[in-house]
Amino acid sequence: MKAAILYETNQPLVIEEVELDPPKKGEVHVKIGAAGVCRSDLHFMHGDAIIQTPAILGHEGAGTVLDVGEGVTSVKPGDDVILSFVPNCGRCPYCLTGRANLCDLHGATSGTLFDGTNRLHIGDQYITPMGKVGCFAQEAVVPETGCILLPKGFPLPQAALIGCSVTTGVGAAMYNAEITPGSTVAVFGVGGVGLNVIQGARLLGASKIIAVDIHQSKLEFASKFGATNTVDASSGDPVAKVKELTDGLGADYTFEVFGSSETVLNAYHSVKKGGQVIIVGIAPVTATAAIDPVSLVRFERTVKGCYYGSARPNIDMPTMVTLYKSGQIDIDGLITREYSLDEINQAYKDIDTTEIGRGVITKF
Ligand SMILES: [Zn+2]
Ligand SMILES: [Zn+2]
Repeated sequence: MKAAILYETNQPLVIEEVELDPPKKGEVHVKIGAAGVCRSDLHFMHGDAIIQTPAILGHEGAGTVLDVGEGVTSVKPGDDVILSFVPNCGRCPYCLTGRANLCDLHGATSGTLFDGTNRLHIGDQYITPMGKVGCFAQEAVVPETGCILLPKGFPLPQAALIGCSVTTGVGAAMYNAEITPGSTVAVFGVGGVGLNVIQGARLLGASKIIAVDIHQSKLEFASKFGATNTVDASSGDPVAKVKELTDGLGADYTFEVFGSSETVLNAYHSVKKGGQVIIVGIAPVTATAAIDPVSLVRFERTVKGCYYGSARPNIDMPTMVTLYKSGQIDIDGLITREYSLDEINQAYKDIDTTEIGRGVITKF
């Protein structure tokens, strides 16, 4: 089967034939139907995040089950599924306490499937699947718990987005912050995930949702998803502008969805006394952010990390499916570009220059 392979950072991905071994016990063989062009993959391409190479990136995916390994009961050939890039073991302390997005065994086996081996190779050279998914390929073998069953006929590009940006963004608002009706929210960075934080905040009844970004075109787009105010951080101090828009108080909840020291600090300084700062963006591995502990204490601010929307993928992704079907979240409007797998390097050039909404690979 054909896949896009990362051999070296800052080099184009190479489209190549790869061998994929059949699924073992508890694994599922999936034909990829859609793969989102997410910024997290770009961090690996740029070396800002580390993955064992050669690797097949792609973690925002959906597809159709071709075949299942021994013991698999929750899906069968022909079923459509969302792929979760944090499949869970079901047995570790985090899984057992309802925090499957923090699964220990998944963390301990990053770079392979749960049994510590891989199904992907070219000859005897094994290839790492990102997040046990690796959906920049025609097919994948993934853990059963990484497959979330879809209702028949659900569109796969929309399903793929539920696999990362929708659940990460809406989940941050819904499961991590638990935004209360009438509250004020500021979102720093309105790419694919940021737009979903905005529509999550709208869904939960926030009275004011301030989108902050350095691109005017992204800010205009954010208004379609529920942003009530916009702040162009390329001109002037965004912290002062957020305060101005919140009667000098700061927002009840601020979300950092870009992944940099500067945006973390801006989100921190824009939150009101007693407010919550939710860090969603993945900063480069070397980044630090100097928060002054005095303001943290005296203003009783809370700073929280939020991984994968603090969602339990197998329970909360079906909720996203329902919210989409009932028209309460917009995924159609997020999808602004479609590509074939052969165009993947162009797709990642576009993310840096013209990123509005989400690109999705739909031809493999
Ligand atoms: Zn992603
Ligand atoms: Zn676990």
